[in-house]
Amino acid sequence: MNMKTISIIGSTGSIGKNAIEVVLNHKGRFSVYALAAKNNVSCLVQQCIALEPKPKMVAIFDKAKKLELEEKLSQAGLKQIQVHSGQEGLIQAVTAGEVAQVLMALSGVEGLKPLMAALRAGKNIAMANKEPLVMAGGMIRELARKHQATVIPVDSEHSGIFQCLEGRKNEIPSNIFLTASGGPFLYRELSTFDHITSEEALRHPRWSMGKKISVDSATLMNKGLELIEAQALFDISPDKLKVLIHPQAIVHAVVEFRDGSQIAQLSVTDMKLPIQYALTYPGRLDFEAGKLDLTRVGSLEFLSVDLKKFPCLQLAYEAMQRGGLAPCVLNAANEAAVGAFLEEKILFTDIAKINDSVLNDYHSFIAKTSVPDLEDILNADGWARQKAGAWILTHAKNKVSA
Ligand code: MG
Repeated sequence: MNMKTISIIGSTGSIGKNAIEVVLNHKGRFSVYALAAKNNVSCLVQQCIALEPKPKMVAIFDKAKKLELEEKLSQAGLKQIQVHSGQEGLIQAVTAGEVAQVLMALSGVEGLKPLMAALRAGKNIAMANKEPLVMAGGMIRELARKHQATVIPVDSEHSGIFQCLEGRKNEIPSNIFLTASGGPFLYRELSTFDHITSEEALRHPRWSMGKKISVDSATLMNKGLELIEAQALFDISPDKLKVLIHPQAIVHAVVEFRDGSQIAQLSVTDMKLPIQYALTYPGRLDFEAGKLDLTRVGSLEFLSVDLKKFPCLQLAYEAMQRGGLAPCVLNAANEAAVGAFLEEKILFTDIAKINDSVLNDYHSFIAKTSVPDLEDILNADGWARQKAGAWILTHAKNKVSA
């Protein structure tokens, strides 16, 4: 494998930091052209100091931080690194001619436009950010096809599916199973779910992740969003997408073919592995952080999901069945709900109630749209956030102390 030039969009988040480690673990394999982040100046500067060769540019989404970033880079003796800001800055970071691959790891809706720009430029994408796929799966697949851009998933389950399907492009799977560890409340009594605190929800048993995704893992909304993501990536009908609870989180995905054969992908639970695979695909490199020893794992369990405990998963199926902008609406409502939960404005169980309520109102919105384009998508996103916000305002005062 020759040296590959990449841009990392969202380098200061947990995926981005892991990606930097992957790059640092494989000296001479990757050259980072651009780093981009929403607003974390000091982390960006640290990453520029650590990387060799130095990035050519950094982009910061928050325009107000541009000057500070320039000053700190200059203090670090890195004046030669160009600084760009705003949406345009991110777009420059992904479309530059030298860039062979873009790691999209910027959480939230801000990642959508840079992703579209990268696809239009025909870049290969290592896709870590769920939201664009959930909000605009059809549009992204179409853009990728049109501009011959490859989208390689970074999410562990989707990386697993991708690996199971490798070399079997002509076989249509009869079922795809995504595994879920079950989160911190798998064995907790449903009757106590109202009392779940944000601290408890943030304590994930298997993965160490950002706050939003940790809460989503506790409600299983993360798995719901991943189903939608899988539908977008692999263009498969929702009824073939299944979830298996698998507390050991060793098997990441299982693909079943028409003869009933099931092919699974197993590995240690370390985000660096799917990141590295996406960056080295179709090749592979050594993985320093350790290999899976099945004799030490001993046994693997698989359980079905209790949808009474985790109604968010059911809502994801509903959104997929409805199609159109429903997944986008569910994603936006959920983001607002999780934000309110982390701010202790609502109960853990309110997250699903908000999602359900906004998704149910979706029919009043759908009439105004036909084929969703970017404007429709952003409108639906804003509409759902507003609806969720209104629900939170009305109900927040009913919060009982945990
Ligand atoms: Mg995942």
